[in-house]
Amino acid sequence: MKLTPETVALVTGASRGIGVHIVRALSARGCKLVLAARNREGLNQTARIAEEAGCSVLVVPTDLGEQASIEALFAAAETEFGGVDLLVNNAGVEGNYFFEEASLELIEWTTRVNVVAPLALSRLVLPGMLERDRGHIVNIASLAGLGPVAFGEVYGASKHAIMGFTSALRASLQTRGSSVSASAICPGYVSEVGMFADKLAAVPTAKAPAFLGVSPPEKIAAAVVKVTEKDVPTMIINPGAMRLTLALALLFPRLGEWLGHRLRVHLSGQEAAKAGRRLESPDPEHS
Ligand code: NAP
Repeated sequence: MKLTPETVALVTGASRGIGVHIVRALSARGCKLVLAARNREGLNQTARIAEEAGCSVLVVPTDLGEQASIEALFAAAETEFGGVDLLVNNAGVEGNYFFEEASLELIEWTTRVNVVAPLALSRLVLPGMLERDRGHIVNIASLAGLGPVAFGEVYGASKHAIMGFTSALRASLQTRGSSVSASAICPGYVSEVGMFADKLAAVPTAKAPAFLGVSPPEKIAAAVVKVTEKDVPTMIINPGAMRLTLALALLFPRLGEWLGHRLRVHLSGQEAAKAGRRLESPDPEHS
């Protein structure tokens, strides 16, 4: 789907982190923007970026853990712009822990924000997209949705779930002969802003494994534009040959495990879990 000044794009997690860069990239295409997250001040700051680019912007403070808030977000987008053409499910929460210490609250909360909310929003925007036979849903997953993320079982489970949702929805839409589509983006470690950069600031020993490296947030933002315009099923954003490594791990699981340990990919999560070893909700407002 070509992105134009007529395109209405709803971006979750737009108050900080990667979401800000996604908004900047969509602003460069002149899209009309609906920005969602809980922090109104953060949303207003992001809105200014879009407004300076000449875009119409609607800020909707939203708690994606609450179904009523999700419905209010969609209703506001419909009222203001008459529908949503591009949904970018970007908001997410994560944490590192020793799994046996993970509270049920943490499991439910992470699942609600990372899985239930994107599915609930997709379910709301799809009827309009199908009616117009135009629309795209982009889910920001993670490499954690394709391989093991040690000391992040809940996050990994949520990202695998969103990968499963995206590929199933894509297949259903294709089978129905619709022009509406869905894509997943799988970033590895992201530098400068976002949850990994925040973690590194708090736990300097939780460095990204040298084998995986880091990517700047602009690459994820550019990927949102690309997967939408070229209808790419899945895009991995990571330096190095991740597709080959993942394919090898799928074909030869023991080799994959051996490589993971050998290349020390699990140490970052272990460092964060050790430093944390206090189990708290990923969302301070709900702890
Ligand atoms: P971040 O800086 O922590 O930002 C997370 C965003 O999600 C914020 O805007 C936050 O806004 C929003 N959010 C969290 N809980 C919410 C809730 N209950 N309701 C509404 N909004 C909520 O994280 P990020 O790094 O930008 O992450 C963006 C996406 O990229 C996530 O899906 C993440 O899993 C994925 N990702 C990130 C990395 C990385 O290294 N950073 C790597 C792979 C994948 P409020 O707090 O204002 O609500």
